[in-house]
Amino acid sequence: MAVGSIRLPSLTSLAPLKRQCSYRSSGISLSVNGFYPFKRIVQACLQSSTANGDIGVQLPDDQSEIIFMGTGTSEGIPRVSCLTNPLKTCPVCSKATEPGNRNRRLNTSILIRYLNSSRKSNILIDVGKFFYHSALRWFPAYGIRTIDAVIITHSHADAIGGLDDLRDWTNNVQPNIPIYVAERDFEVMKKTHYYLVDTSVILPGAAVSELQFNIIPEEPLNVHGLKVTPIPVWHGRGYRSLGFRFGNICYISDVSEIPEETYPLLQYCDILILDALRPDRSSSTHFGLPRALEEVQKIQPKRTLFTGMMHLMDHEEVSDYLSKLKVSEGLDVQLSYDGLRVPVTL
Ligand SMILES: [Zn+2]
Ligand SMILES: [Zn+2]
Repeated sequence: MAVGSIRLPSLTSLAPLKRQCSYRSSGISLSVNGFYPFKRIVQACLQSSTANGDIGVQLPDDQSEIIFMGTGTSEGIPRVSCLTNPLKTCPVCSKATEPGNRNRRLNTSILIRYLNSSRKSNILIDVGKFFYHSALRWFPAYGIRTIDAVIITHSHADAIGGLDDLRDWTNNVQPNIPIYVAERDFEVMKKTHYYLVDTSVILPGAAVSELQFNIIPEEPLNVHGLKVTPIPVWHGRGYRSLGFRFGNICYISDVSEIPEETYPLLQYCDILILDALRPDRSSSTHFGLPRALEEVQKIQPKRTLFTGMMHLMDHEEVSDYLSKLKVSEGLDVQLSYDGLRVPVTL
């Protein structure tokens, strides 16, 4: 499959472009002189906080749903190094600078909005390095106020790097946040976030995140009334990561191998959210798209949404490819994207 192979023309072959940009919300107007694609980058950076059709959309009150807080790899997309490289400009990262472009991806994470006896609980899976930026983007836009629980898949930085930023909630919104984490990952947090685990080291007056740590076994647990079943998988040789099943939805964000004994947990799955790092092959720690598609055929979910994509995954190109699989293979498979909302029954 030839996804990720588009090359932009060299910068020297393009004439200077002059364009008038105007900003509806601020009333500012200015001229941008520059060479493609830098013109586009400058425009996107200036417009990024104002130009997106999703802003202001309100959530329905009587519907549980999943919101994709982030769908990208650890470093985020666009990569800074792709934007600063004048010779080998990356088409996906260039596109990702455009406001609202679906190639723009932050650390993989979802928010489950679970309707439980007329109140919605907000259950976050993972709180990575870019959590603040995801929350800034989607919490105000979708009217999300509280974080009722956080469930951790594993202890890499793109899954736990935002624990410190939860202080804004526990200082200003709610008294504390329960964190559900496997013992091995809690042991890591004792080192990486020692002052959040043992708050006795904090000087009086300092206000850090107030977190309640709950160690989870590899068996079903109750999170704010929602039954959540851990799905143990390998994320690189000998390194455990957890997926989670809630209702008939299975979320597996970081996986290189699914142990045989885990497959029974994936039966009768309506929506599978699955790791697919790159278009051509797997890495030692993540499924690539070919392997992810093999797993979809084995697991047989009704619908699949891929997540955790790196910059080689061009949203439009891969989506085109996947849409053809519906006709040829009968597979309902799509790429997720940051800000995607999926109504679910829980
Ligand atoms: Zn790139
Ligand atoms: Zn990881």
